[in-house]
Amino acid sequence: MPQITNLRLLFSSPNPTTFLSSFKPNSLFKPNTKIPTKFNKPNYSSYPFFTCLSSSRKSHSKSFNSNRRISSSSLKKSEMGEKRGLSSMKMDDEVAESKKIGFNKKRAEGRDKSSRVKDLKLKVRRLNPVNTISYVQVLGTGMDTQDTSPSVLLFFDKQRFIFNAGEGLQRFCTEHKIKLSKIDHIFLSRVCSETAGGLPGLLLTLAGTGEEGMSVNVWGPSDFKYLVDAMKSFIPNAAMVHTRCFGPSPKSDKIPDNLEKLNDQLKLIDDEVVKISAILLRPSSSETNGIKKDEFALKSSDISVLYICELPEIRGKFDPEKARALGLRPGPKYRELQEGISVKSDTKNIMVHPDDVLGPSVPGPIVLLVDCPTLSHFRELLSASSIETYYADVASMPEENRKTVNCVIHLSPALVVNSSDYQKWMSRFGGAEHILAGHQMKNIEIPILQSSARVAARLNYLCPQFFPAPGFWSLQQLKCSTSPVMAEDTGLKLCETISAENLLKFHLRPYAQLGLDRTGIPATAAPREIIEDLLSEIPEISDAAQQVARLWREDEHASEAASDNNMIEEPWLNQSAVPSCLEGITRENVEIVLLGTGSSQPSKYRNVSSVFINLFSKGSLLLDCGEGTLGQLKRRFGIQGADDAVRGLRFIWISHIHADHHTGLARILALRRDLLKGVPHEPLVVIGPRQLKRFLDAYERLEELDMQFLDCRHTTKASLAAFESNYNQSDNYEPSSGNKVDSVKPKVSDSILFAKGSPMQSHWKRPGSPVDSTLAHPIMEKLTDVLGDAGLESIISFPVVHCPQAFGVVLKGADRLHSDGRRIIPGWKIVYSGDTRPCPELVEASQGATVLIHEATFEDALVEEAIARNHSTTKEAIEVGDAAGAYRIILTHFSQRYPKIPVFDESHMHKTCIAFDMMSINFADLHVLPRVLPYLKLLFKNEMVVDESDELESAVSLAA
Ligand SMILES: [Zn+2]
Ligand SMILES: [Zn+2]
Repeated sequence: MPQITNLRLLFSSPNPTTFLSSFKPNSLFKPNTKIPTKFNKPNYSSYPFFTCLSSSRKSHSKSFNSNRRISSSSLKKSEMGEKRGLSSMKMDDEVAESKKIGFNKKRAEGRDKSSRVKDLKLKVRRLNPVNTISYVQVLGTGMDTQDTSPSVLLFFDKQRFIFNAGEGLQRFCTEHKIKLSKIDHIFLSRVCSETAGGLPGLLLTLAGTGEEGMSVNVWGPSDFKYLVDAMKSFIPNAAMVHTRCFGPSPKSDKIPDNLEKLNDQLKLIDDEVVKISAILLRPSSSETNGIKKDEFALKSSDISVLYICELPEIRGKFDPEKARALGLRPGPKYRELQEGISVKSDTKNIMVHPDDVLGPSVPGPIVLLVDCPTLSHFRELLSASSIETYYADVASMPEENRKTVNCVIHLSPALVVNSSDYQKWMSRFGGAEHILAGHQMKNIEIPILQSSARVAARLNYLCPQFFPAPGFWSLQQLKCSTSPVMAEDTGLKLCETISAENLLKFHLRPYAQLGLDRTGIPATAAPREIIEDLLSEIPEISDAAQQVARLWREDEHASEAASDNNMIEEPWLNQSAVPSCLEGITRENVEIVLLGTGSSQPSKYRNVSSVFINLFSKGSLLLDCGEGTLGQLKRRFGIQGADDAVRGLRFIWISHIHADHHTGLARILALRRDLLKGVPHEPLVVIGPRQLKRFLDAYERLEELDMQFLDCRHTTKASLAAFESNYNQSDNYEPSSGNKVDSVKPKVSDSILFAKGSPMQSHWKRPGSPVDSTLAHPIMEKLTDVLGDAGLESIISFPVVHCPQAFGVVLKGADRLHSDGRRIIPGWKIVYSGDTRPCPELVEASQGATVLIHEATFEDALVEEAIARNHSTTKEAIEVGDAAGAYRIILTHFSQRYPKIPVFDESHMHKTCIAFDMMSINFADLHVLPRVLPYLKLLFKNEMVVDESDELESAVSLAA
């Protein structure tokens, strides 16, 4: 995800309590055009990168040092021509320095922000209530949304509203070509990772969209401000988000008073096209009595919102027949009537009023969005009087006050929806269409990301050893029928309902089309058809699959042969003989699962960074955790399997603060918290850059995450050595003894890269960032235990060259006893680069690595680009691995300009493989890894050309 740094503070969130009293909806929609003058600079940086290079020297320097969006089309052009001009160009000193040392210093030090301030305005749209097309549409239901609320789009020609933005929304919209750039308002039905997990990424993308980027209104119950506070830690200068909190704060002292007001209908938007209002629901008050109240008040995600969308009635048109009947002759009086002026009849002695000559008016459709996460919320809803005008069965309600609801979209879970009271409640809306968009069993089999499922199915066909996930899951495979939350309906049905499907629409305008529309629902292909397609498209793939299988069989022969000292190997395998740590390794030792292999933002085929290290009976780890990591775990292991994986996590390590590396963290932690409820357990250790702590601290005000944070700087070699010596010196270590703090500080001099006077030193050793070892000490001790349980000897973070506080990591497996019981086999070593330029620290850390997982954002031809953004090219990544004598190199974090397979030069790949989402590399298969690459290439032989489709264009963004 891009770390967009050009966002300006546009928080206009009023104090929630004063907000309610002074609420005037229309006043909110005046565009906020006031910009702090110091940011109001001309923006050179919105030009494509290489275009800037070929323009004036001044703008060249500026753009070179800034990380802004590059359109893939401009980049492609540059690959051909303009880049060649680069080397002959005179460069500014700063650029020259960057070139000499091979990285972008400003970016590495976090100083490249100010030049990129954009003017992110709210768009003003001219609304047309009469002729607009309008509908509501369900975005995303299916397997990976089993724990994520689907989003609902309310569409008008000139305005878009989205309800909820769970993880994966962007990927879903990219796949289905739904333009998110037209969204003006996002509404949250609750504020938690389930409903808002995709929000940070979405906001960053919107800020990077188009020349100027754009700003949106985000609406949620008052606690939404905590989420925005949390996002400030990685969306510098906060955001282009206009926060619109409503309702009382649960932390306010006045809760009892406000509880009365809670069920009032709050008008949020009222314009020519739509009126949107909200009714807040809080679990029924009986559960908030007594001691529990305080505890209760702290849980923000408990408030849910029912949204009511009402389109205005459209007055009928002037009807000449009626005018004639009232004795009017065609002429100027017709026009006057149409202008709203009453006129005297020409032939009768009466006044004719405009309303007398109108044709039938078109009623305004009404849609309700209901999110009752628990039965307790539902009981609250039953007692809400403000919703009574929408019921069809309140006899006392005067006819003119009655409103007819056309469609109710239920986001409530099956457990609530299937209760008899809920069913009774639904039937109160007369003939309304009820769409159940909560978790439905049947949707589990329909992947919401069909394109990536298709690729997964193809990879699985070719090489099931490295791609065990089938791409498509059946209910049977998922073995989840016993889960009570997912229980199918009990048979009790008082009113007709339909299950939501991806892209199901309900038309609102034109009125003649009012009702359901299934035409947009994508056809689902069975896995069998996908393979048939593959075989007809690439007939030789069938042979290839057999040859791949033979690699494993040969391997069995080879090991037999090896025991006869008669091993025949491919020449390149001689160059890197199997390291001793792999001797006699079983399939239950370690497996690397690449969950997300793309950079910047989630795309159609590649999700953002996450590496799952499966240690089997010893648990698991996550290295980075981009948005949608949980969904990817489900695609790899199934729903139950993903739960087990999350339950078994020993710790999570995050490389740096860019959003493509950590925005899936809260969702994982929240799930773990729920899974372990009532089970004795320790909070999960999260090791990350210090900016991440700010995010997690702020986020925890919203939702309990049940974790302990440890700064990456505490796990550098120097810090660990200091910790060890302290630990050994004194068993009675006093955590409060302040004078020991210094000894655990990372020793800058230990680092080659950050040696005194080196260009990187300044941002490593920043003033005002003391390493508070006092607090860290108990967590360090705990980490020691955790490592032991996980069968690891150590975890060591090391600084890399990317942005401030960016790290790579070394995981060292513990020594093990050979199955013969006589020999000690040394532990394996996994090194993960994070995002970085090649650097000596990384080479040193990777010495003798069993596997080096290295970012390779760019192809070799784009080295200038890699330097400007502090990333690596394929070749550079391989050079690091070669220099360090790594046994195997896995390349990942590919720019989204390579939608399915990156561009690479096969001749250097003898110990290397490129990663695909869900690729699962068991250490027992490591020796085969590079030999699979040519077959993988065959699978994409028709797609090696750089794809420049629409979605790619929008996917290329600032930085990652
Ligand atoms: Zn990244
Ligand atoms: Zn990054």
